[in-house]
Amino acid sequence: MAPTPAAVTRAAIALGSNIGDSASILKDALKALDQHPQVSLVRHSSWYRTVPVGPAQDDFLNGCALLETDLAADALLELLLSTEQDFGRVRLEHWGPRSLDLDLILYGDQVISSDRLQVPHPRLAERSFVLTPLAEIAPEWIEPTSGKTISELASQLGEDGILQRIT
Ligand code: ATP
Ligand code: CA
Ligand code: CA
Repeated sequence: MAPTPAAVTRAAIALGSNIGDSASILKDALKALDQHPQVSLVRHSSWYRTVPVGPAQDDFLNGCALLETDLAADALLELLLSTEQDFGRVRLEHWGPRSLDLDLILYGDQVISSDRLQVPHPRLAERSFVLTPLAEIAPEWIEPTSGKTISELASQLGEDGILQRIT
């Protein structure tokens, strides 16, 4: 008998970069994730130039993507963190500049709170640089802690900090 396939879960990730050739880094990071045997890229948003949060630094390029994966959430986080390393991420100051940041925003309808992983991402509702691109690709997805759709959360917050949409 063929083995039972593992359940596939849809995940939403946020991508950001403000060091190096950010446009190429974000595209190449998505390509690398899609090449993982247990991950497939469903679609990604437009890219957005955004105002940095935290210490003074260059503008960010941000976007979001939907993945399908049979990796558990903690294994998907490990893959995101190792992909950041592959693209030269160095951790210096809190919320400082980075070549690549990959955050796990939503993982199916699961709510996860461990030392290493919180899902939905705890700062989602206050971040236009995540909600604006995510609303483009997953407007009807219900954020399980608020019970609101991404589109509702995005319009509630507005687009402060979004400088330019790059299509
Ligand atoms: P923020 O979480 O406010 O966006 P950041 O992205 O700058 O900040 P990092 O330095 O990239 O933070 O990550 C610090 C740690 O956050 C990671 O090592 C990881 O264990 C933890 N973490 C918890 N929940 C998540 C999540 N949903 N996605 C990514 N990392 C997470
Ligand atoms: Ca982040
Ligand atoms: Ca991060």
